[in-house]
Formats: sequence, C-alpha cells, structure tokens
Amino acid sequence: MIIFRKKDELQAFALKTKRAGKTIGMVPTMGYLHAGHLSLIDAARKRADVVVVSIFVNPTQFGPNEDLDRYPRDFERDSQLCAEHHVDVIFAPEPGEMYAPDASTRVEETKLSGPLCGASRPGFYRGVTTVVSKLFHLAQPDFACFGLKDAQQCFVIERMVRDLDFPIEIVPCPLVRDADGLALSSRNRYLSADERSRALSIHRALLAGREELERHGVGDLAGLAGRAKQAIAAAGGRVDYVEALDRADLRPPTEKTQWVLLAAAAFFGATRLIDNELVQVKK
Ligand code: AMP
Repeated sequence: MIIFRKKDELQAFALKTKRAGKTIGMVPTMGYLHAGHLSLIDAARKRADVVVVSIFVNPTQFGPNEDLDRYPRDFERDSQLCAEHHVDVIFAPEPGEMYAPDASTRVEETKLSGPLCGASRPGFYRGVTTVVSKLFHLAQPDFACFGLKDAQQCFVIERMVRDLDFPIEIVPCPLVRDADGLALSSRNRYLSADERSRALSIHRALLAGREELERHGVGDLAGLAGRAKQAIAAAGGRVDYVEALDRADLRPPTEKTQWVLLAAAAFFGATRLIDNELVQVKK
C-alpha cells in the first residue's frame, strides 16, 4: 500500500495506472474509519484493479461553529484498516496541500443541495462538490463509491458528475448500522452512553415513518414528519429536520413519486447525527 501526501504524486500515479489499462475505484472519506467506510472499500475492491481511498477532513465543508477542530482523527488505525482491506493507495493531504491560499474557484450544485442538510449547513455542499471534483481530477477514478448514509450527498455528487460530464460512475452503497440500529458515523464517538441510547430514537422514528409510508402512501407526510419529530424530541433530541422528499428531485412527493427519502437530522448533546430510510411508495 502506498501513502501519498502530495497531489502531483497521486495524479502521476493515476495517469500511469490508466495508461497501463487498469481501472481505478475511489472511496473519498474524512477518515476515522468504521464498518460503513470499509463496506465501500470492499465494494470498490471487488470491481477495480486499483483502489484509492482519500482521507481528508475537508475544512471548506465545515461551518464556523461546527466541529472541524475536534473531528476525530487516527491515521495509524485508518491505514492499518486500509491495509487489511487491500487498499492500494491512501491519499492523505494536509489542507495547505489541497488548496492554494488564494483559491477562488468553487463547484456548486444548485438544486438537490437546497433542502435538508443544505438548508441547515450553508456552504456545506459547495465544499463537498468542490473537494470531490478536485479528488476526481487527482485520482482519475473509473468509479467512486458513496454511502447512502449521506443519501443527499450521494445524489448531489451523481448530479454533479452528470452535469459536468465527469467520466466516472457513482456507485451508491447501502447504509451500515450497528447491531442496535444506530447508523455508523465517525461522530458517534462524541456520544456518551446515555446520549447514544437516546439517539436510537432517530432510527426508530424513521422505521415508524417507513411503515406508515408503506401502508398508506404519501397522503399525510406532514403528520408523519411531525410524529417522527415528536418521538425524537421525547427521547431528548433537538430535531434539526425530519422530511419526506421525492428521491428523484428532493422536492415534495407527488402521485408520481416512486421512492421517498425519509431523512432526519438531530442533535444529542452537542453531536449532530443524520439518518434516513429510502422507501418505495405504495401505489
Ligand atoms: P465521511 O468519512 O463521513 O465523509 O464518509 C465517507 C463515505 O463513507 C461517504 O460516502 C459516506 O456516505 C460513507 N459512510 C459513512 N458512514 C456510513 C455508513 N454508516 N454506511 C455506509 N456508508 C457510510
């Protein structure tokens, strides 16, 4: 396994690999790897000749009052896990290597980035699409794996790749949960034992919403979201949003809607958690 810290090293490696006729699969991450990340790496490993994992806590996607400084980092452990999962290349640049001090170009998706996390975290998706564009130019992947834990992010990247003609296939991968249902996240490590058990209410509320949608369709989405919010608040969570949107355009569902993204974000203590269920609508 090779570790690159410099952009030009990765790009030269990628060009050489492509010229040799090999395929590259990429998994962009912010590190502090868990089984969710590893499932993406395993999916990439199955299909690509060469697997590149990036580990970069991207400052431009964090707001001024967010957790950039305390975001968990453990490069030794991450690189051991990558080696165990047969990763070929880790790309782990410093922020100063990634961005020129006077960088003045951004990539922005303007529709799917609007609701949900886009509404609560201004500038977040612009930071994500900009850094992912840069990573794609550096690693030249044939495909890249993204987790449906961050479903909106995955859809925004799919749209960006389509709109800007990146020759890259986006591979959405299933959300991985702990045995008790909590969606795996690097941020779960911030939770106390008590907060963690109360945070299970998010998934429970989404499952109740899923059942309602499967039984009754999209007739009472405001009621459904209200009940989910109440359940999370009753467990001590501070709800950011619970929304049911059409998976295709992240707008309110209509009679034509086939899949609903039922998504929630809530704080337990100072920790903001997100989760979702993708539900096929009863017709
Ligand atoms: P992050 O390190 O949080 O930026 O996540 C890097 C990638 O891992 C993104 O594509 C995430 O959607 C994915 N990911 C994070 N948590 C999970 C999970 N619990 N299940 C599946 N994919 C995940």
